[in-house]
Amino acid sequence: MKQIFFSIKGLCIFLAVPFFLGALLFPASVKADQTIVIVIDPGHGGKNLGAQYEGYTEKDMTMITAKAMKEELEKYEGVAVYLTHEEDADMSIKDRALFAKNRDADFLFCLHYNMSEYHTLFGSEVWVPAQGEYYAKGYSFAQIQMKEFSDIGLNSRGIKTRLNDRDENYYGILRYCTQENVPSVLIEHCHLDHDKDKPFYQQGEEQLKEFGRMDAAAVAKYFGLKSSVLNVDYSDFPVPETKVPASIVRPDKTEPELCRIEVSDIDQETGQVTVRMEAWDGDSYILYYNYSLDGGNTFTLPEPWPRPDGWNKSAREHTFAITVPFDQPVTLVAGASNGYDVWAQSGPVSIDPVPDPERLREEERIKQEKALREAQKQYQEITYEDTAGQEEAGNISMVLAVLIGIIVLCMLFVSFFMARAISSLLKGNKKR
Ligand SMILES: [Zn+2]
Repeated sequence: MKQIFFSIKGLCIFLAVPFFLGALLFPASVKADQTIVIVIDPGHGGKNLGAQYEGYTEKDMTMITAKAMKEELEKYEGVAVYLTHEEDADMSIKDRALFAKNRDADFLFCLHYNMSEYHTLFGSEVWVPAQGEYYAKGYSFAQIQMKEFSDIGLNSRGIKTRLNDRDENYYGILRYCTQENVPSVLIEHCHLDHDKDKPFYQQGEEQLKEFGRMDAAAVAKYFGLKSSVLNVDYSDFPVPETKVPASIVRPDKTEPELCRIEVSDIDQETGQVTVRMEAWDGDSYILYYNYSLDGGNTFTLPEPWPRPDGWNKSAREHTFAITVPFDQPVTLVAGASNGYDVWAQSGPVSIDPVPDPERLREEERIKQEKALREAQKQYQEITYEDTAGQEEAGNISMVLAVLIGIIVLCMLFVSFFMARAISSLLKGNKKR
């Protein structure tokens, strides 16, 4: 009995030692089973439709993407995935954050599709909380996500913070999640109202699901997950490090510091003008550029500013061609915007009117025609004079011919009478 008692005691010590060691190695805050809890929030729902454009409704799109993201994430090991709502229903932003809190979520990913006020913007963006470790976690994840967007050709509009007038996170889901100690990001996949983004969703559901699978891959990389089903292992994935900011991270409200243009070439035949532009923003980077031919009254639609070294490094300069209208003086002004859509304008550059080559050719043709008519007129006059001379000469020769005729006739008469006289003389001599 005593022996059994000792062996139970020994067994207890044998089990307790690794338990205490384990408790020392893994602090209480880490979940005992190491399962990563992911909450996906499909943006909008119920009466809250979200963006609507040309038959697309955001709440339907976010639901399709969110379900595909969940399905894909569940193929990874050591992960529990929830949607804040699976039915098309109204749900307050606060309830979505509380849902994540109640499940002890490691992260909440809020999915959206975007639209801009004047239908001029395009590309993807990720909004992150502005405070401390919530900013750092959000920013680290968003860098992975943004690279994926950029790799498939979407214009990255950046990873940003936005604050309300009380200096809180502007987006409710980020505000409440931060209050509930849940790291979070808000992903705006692309714009529903711009031709440049249409190729990424207009083929239908499969493309929306593809976005979900892409989001899932970014999450898997961030958490270093692996999946035997998908045959991928991200446990060594290099997650970009973000320093925890000491104070609130504010949006960049200052315009790009540099925005300058010069005209390097004008093609007189086509009216094509080569413009060399420099633009720079030290706080964020240059997203778009556009230009005006009327001194800044009206501008063209924004075009993407080149970023040859990655989604978050804009080029210092860009050379592009524009076409100016013929026969008009042009005052060229260019604009450049940063990641927060704050625009700077260049100084004006005057371009002298480029003469319309078609008009010049027409004018030349008319000039030549006139000259030709002139020449023809002169030629006709000369020809008329020549003909008159010829007539005169003709008349003279005719008079001569008549005279010669008369002389010949006279000679014939004379010869005839002489012949008769001679023959009568000869007859008279015979009779004698
Ligand atoms: Zn939305």
